[in-house]
Amino acid sequence: MKTESPLRLNASDRLLLLRRLDHLRKWASLDDKRYCVCCGKIITGRQIEAVGGTRPLGPLRLLCPTENCVSTCEDWVYVHQAASAVSLEAKSAARSIGAEVRRYPHPIANSSNKVSSRGF
Ligand SMILES: [Zn+2]
Repeated sequence: MKTESPLRLNASDRLLLLRRLDHLRKWASLDDKRYCVCCGKIITGRQIEAVGGTRPLGPLRLLCPTENCVSTCEDWVYVHQAASAVSLEAKSAARSIGAEVRRYPHPIANSSNKVSSRGF
């Protein structure tokens, strides 16, 4: 349950905050999208809420905009990583992803440059 009301931030402050608090990923703009592995939703920088920053409320932190989702920026992966995040969370859900797996033939270990041990 969220009891704290999110901070009111203008666009540039919000972007600064995202960059400051999210050490794992880069935020190019507020339109950057992230996949929340906790609630399974795509969120953008504009939707992300920031709370805290004053003594009684604890440290400044970022919150997922989804109701009742308690994830933080560590749980937000790049959208292109979402497929692998999902397959880790729920393997059965991603049925068609395997079709794109390319097969590379094993490089044949046929290097015939044997160093002849001459010895004497
Ligand atoms: Zn979430």
